[in-house]
Amino acid sequence: MNTNQEGYFGTFGGSFVPPKLKEVLDNLANEFERYKEDPEFNQEFKETLKEYVGRENPLTYASRLTKSLNGPKIYLKREDLNHTGAHKINNVVGQILLAKRMGAHRIIAETGAGQHGVATATACAMFGMDCTIYMGKLDTERQALNVFRMELLGAKVIPVEKGQGRLKDAVDVALADLVENYESTFYLLGSAVGPHPFPSMVKHFQSIISEESKKQIVEQEGKLPAAVIAVVGGGSNAIGSFAHYIEEPAVRLIGAEPEEAATMAKGKPAELHGFKTLVLQDENGAPAPTYSIAAGLDYPGVGPEHSYLKETGRAEYYTVSKEEVLEAFQLLSAKEGIIPALESAHAVALAKKLAPQFSNEDAIILTISGRGDKDVAQVHDLLKDRKEKQG
Ligand SMILES: *Cc1c(COP(=O)(O)O)cnc(C)c1O
Repeated sequence: MNTNQEGYFGTFGGSFVPPKLKEVLDNLANEFERYKEDPEFNQEFKETLKEYVGRENPLTYASRLTKSLNGPKIYLKREDLNHTGAHKINNVVGQILLAKRMGAHRIIAETGAGQHGVATATACAMFGMDCTIYMGKLDTERQALNVFRMELLGAKVIPVEKGQGRLKDAVDVALADLVENYESTFYLLGSAVGPHPFPSMVKHFQSIISEESKKQIVEQEGKLPAAVIAVVGGGSNAIGSFAHYIEEPAVRLIGAEPEEAATMAKGKPAELHGFKTLVLQDENGAPAPTYSIAAGLDYPGVGPEHSYLKETGRAEYYTVSKEEVLEAFQLLSAKEGIIPALESAHAVALAKKLAPQFSNEDAIILTISGRGDKDVAQVHDLLKDRKEKQG
């Protein structure tokens, strides 16, 4: 809804890029429009999700969590059970299939903490595609194990030294590569951000989350949920979790974000990476530095459709603190035997906070965007630090 040819969501979105790149992205937009309606393409997408990713994944009733919160019935959408342990693979598979149709044999991608890079390298191995991952030099040092993982999967990881050696710089270099090599190369973007058509394309592939959950909740509860709650980094798992409910006004759409990167709460409209959205800014109007304990949420912008859903009031966004997230991480682990990613623990923390707003008759869906194995060592250290401080 509300997206036209140029990829606007109200006043947000669009494409503010140099002419050469605009040409490449316009072509991508046309190819995407064509294949997303193509039955053969869609069948291959669904089959790959089934055979390789392990979809459909369950909508698990969390009975002990429900009891402990004494509010609505809580259902968990289990993206943590996907191959590679998170929702990112849904989008990666979709875009690689599109790349193949477009005749590309080389995939490039950016990665910050490495999660999108690992998902991309995984699917490239599976489809036999040449894979190059751009990663800020600083990030390659902090995430050495993810660099090794990507290399193990057959990808070439190129450390970017330019600028601050962070994610933003990796994006710039990847875009330059795309402009130079667009005939053979496909740029696989990892979240619902960037210039048109990326936000619409990533939403399309991640919408499988709510396509499944809507069918599952009706089967299990005989009605729609009172709310859907998901964490918002760039916004891909959240927009995928919301998509099939946007036109259902009785369903509250709720996004969780970290206090330390509260783009929705404190951001102002601006242009970032070639599109308009809410952006956290410093006093000079430059993108503000963010820091989140969850590496996947460390971004000063957000997908343009979330900015629009906030502006129109269709979706609500709230922040949770680091302490609340650490508590939720332990709560879901102890109550349900599911260790969530620190990113996903933001959604759990928000569900706990908002539970009193719902009745025992209500059902709410909580997207568990990923599993927490990657975060266990970090949480161990954080809790130990805290204990020592408390003496
Ligand atoms: C990357 C990541 C996120 C944040 O990205 P979105 O595009 O906002 O979904 C959230 N959870 C997990 C597990 C991730 O890996």
